[in-house]
Amino acid sequence: MRTIESIQTVYIEESIKNGLAARGVLERLPNHVKVQYTNSPKSILQERAQKGKSSSKDELMIYRHKGRFLSGCPGSDGMMCCQYFVLHLGQGCLFDCHYCYLQSFLNHPMMTLFGNLEDLFAEVNQKTLGKKNFHFRIGTGEYTDSLVLEPWTGISSHLISYFADHPNATLELKTKSSHVESILDKDHKGHTVISWSLNPSCIIEAIEEGTSSLEERLEAAAKVQKAGYRTSFHLDPLIYFEGWEKEYHLLIDRIFDIVDPCRTAWISMGSFRYTPALKEVIQRRFPEDELTRQGEMIQGIDGKYRYFKTVRQKMFRSIKAKIESVDPRLFLYLCMESRKTWKDVFGFIPSSAKALDSLFEERRKSLESSIEPSLELASSLSPPS
Ligand code: SF4
Repeated sequence: MRTIESIQTVYIEESIKNGLAARGVLERLPNHVKVQYTNSPKSILQERAQKGKSSSKDELMIYRHKGRFLSGCPGSDGMMCCQYFVLHLGQGCLFDCHYCYLQSFLNHPMMTLFGNLEDLFAEVNQKTLGKKNFHFRIGTGEYTDSLVLEPWTGISSHLISYFADHPNATLELKTKSSHVESILDKDHKGHTVISWSLNPSCIIEAIEEGTSSLEERLEAAAKVQKAGYRTSFHLDPLIYFEGWEKEYHLLIDRIFDIVDPCRTAWISMGSFRYTPALKEVIQRRFPEDELTRQGEMIQGIDGKYRYFKTVRQKMFRSIKAKIESVDPRLFLYLCMESRKTWKDVFGFIPSSAKALDSLFEERRKSLESSIEPSLELASSLSPPS
């Protein structure tokens, strides 16, 4: 696993150095990390961009974000959407998944965090507090990993405490790390779901560079369940390879050897997809990879390439059946897939994003109304080997 120890320098914008985020970072940073204050974060980011590296994992920039923090998930043109919201916390990631779309999306290689948390909270208050009849699902893992930097930043801990007082929102923290120790004792009031993107170990080892192993992620998931959090899992991107079916079925077995399905809020499936720009980066950076060469791919109306429909359907159906054999009540959905694929895999098409969102809402209410039977069960399930 790549650790945050690889970060050697943290830049902090002068104007936010006394804010909540920067103070937390300064308290946590080990002595060997150089801290530099700057009045001009943009010029440093531009200078790194000009150097042309596609990623830089040894520097972190914490600066004032002047744009919006909360927005609707951009989804993908023509694909079924679920009314998810994205909370922007920064950009870039310590990990280096070969398929990561950030490689073609970011215009500078440096990891950044938005340090003006006070502005973030004010914006979220303003956008959500008045809407008591709507339940927001809000995730922070769109442009970065939600927990990989947590030991040195504490930012997700601030978010967990903040959302604990928001009964009309669920915060989802998505990660491929196992950095959960510092959030275990947070009073989350059930308003935060911790989620992991998972793939079979052979895929993690080959193309999810620097991330925690499958066993480390599942061990972390069992810990947060014990601490009362709900978990969720994203089987995304599903990768097609010889022997995929057996490996994905083993993965499902392993997940539920370790975590409690009754404390699993939802599971998504999404097939590997890429834009032409991302394909170019993947082939340049990882010339040995079969990723963009394995199986035939077809371009969808959103411009992204995916496996042929028949291949995707076969994968989704097989994995869905396997998950249902563990517990048919588990809540499953497809991410960035067409209405046609929904129909082929689930036998129905949600009539709208709102209708799909209402299924999430039903699931949330049913989990909330069930007595907490599972804390005991979670601790009695077999520990990871
Ligand atoms: S963990 Fe997520 S954000 Fe980080 S490199 Fe992998 S895909 Fe990208």
